[in-house]
Amino acid sequence: LALIAYIPSVVVFRRSIQEHGEMKVEQRIDEITGGAGFVGSHLTDKLMMDGHEVTVVDNFFTGRKRNVEHWIGHENFELINHDVVEPLYIEVDQIYHLASPASPPNYMYNPIKTLKTNTIGTLNMLGLAKRVGARLLLASTSEVYGDPEVHPQNEEYWGHVNPIGPRACYDEGKRVAETMCYAYMKQEGVEVRVARIFNTFGSRMHMNDGRVVSNFILQALQGEPLTVYGSGSQTRAFQYVSDLVNGLVSLMNSNISSPVNLGNPEEHTILEFAQLIKSLVVSRSHIQFLPEAQDDPQRRRPDIRKAKMLLGWEPVVPLEEGLNKTIQYFSRELEHQANNQYI
Ligand code: NAD
Ligand code: UDP
Ligand code: UDP
Repeated sequence: LALIAYIPSVVVFRRSIQEHGEMKVEQRIDEITGGAGFVGSHLTDKLMMDGHEVTVVDNFFTGRKRNVEHWIGHENFELINHDVVEPLYIEVDQIYHLASPASPPNYMYNPIKTLKTNTIGTLNMLGLAKRVGARLLLASTSEVYGDPEVHPQNEEYWGHVNPIGPRACYDEGKRVAETMCYAYMKQEGVEVRVARIFNTFGSRMHMNDGRVVSNFILQALQGEPLTVYGSGSQTRAFQYVSDLVNGLVSLMNSNISSPVNLGNPEEHTILEFAQLIKSLVVSRSHIQFLPEAQDDPQRRRPDIRKAKMLLGWEPVVPLEEGLNKTIQYFSRELEHQANNQYI
């Protein structure tokens, strides 16, 4: 039985067949909901480069056309402006379901919409997966563990979430989304994959995203104070986006239907993180302490033994290298903004 679990599952191919001269190559169609966002656009790049057909479905709430515009016009690429809260009827083989605001200011901006996106939106994508026989990967989150009492967090831990606090629309929305995945798997035979993603950073994060990495880098680059919420003793572990994207693709194409943590286990306090970014930017900004955010998880670090053992996956980009790339990206964004403000 253990051996059977390691046999790679058969990839479902689309019925359409592309012809390359004499040879017929079956083309797989990947749908990425939230594909115009930060993670989704990097995933789009990877799947396009691997030669798949990619359909991005996005309502541009926090995503931007600019993140995927380099693919517009490519014969394998399609961009659909669509809100996943509404039903969607298309033909695909694999669904990477990423549509959801991800940063606390964005998901708290309209909690009802966040709930609808994660519940009704996920239901629709599972209904689509069921109808066309596609496999669905849910972009879940370390937030399902809430403010954890188990450290580091492994996939067996059930979590510690305040169901009525300000983060609940996102945390509970993702928890229901996971529940829905397993209900569709058990009752309808839909193939599901669940990635519990830990803090991720990199290029194409929105300038107003509000998460800590983009805030600190932009503040350091502009000589503004780095805003630390609370004492800065709370911890996080940050992974670079290319590591996450490799993990997502690897999980999708594996036979692991139970949840898998994807994150970098290198843990830092937020204050250490502010100091590191300040020194990498060579910034003279000072650090400003602001009131603590409500229900802010105090410690977070992934246990990634499962991903290592079953997917052979682990992060490979060192923190400083990822940060330097991200700093370069935001410097260019600030330049771009400065050059375009009088146009
Ligand atoms: P993001 O905000 O950059 O991207 C989210 C995308 O989803 C955007 O393009 C947005 O326009 C789209 N979207 C939102 N609501 C939608 C709707 N109703 N219909 C269609 N599209 C919609 O965020 P991200 O960091 O790229 O996150 C992507 C996914 O990964 C999210 O599901 C998030 O919960 C999950 N995740 C991310 C992190 C992280 O650190 N980046 C951590 C854990 C989980
Ligand atoms: N759905 C969709 N695309 C499809 C098939 C279904 O968006 O290709 C939606 C459909 O509108 C429904 C949801 O997915 O609200 C769940 O579908 P399911 O077939 O499981 O439920 P039912 O339609 O029987 O309530
Ligand atoms: N944080 C901070 N200053 C900021 C933004 C965030 O000190 O400008 C803190 C936040 O309180 C949390 C951590 O950094 O403890 C990570 O926050 P983020 O919003 O990036 O992600 P979370 O892990 O909370 O979803």
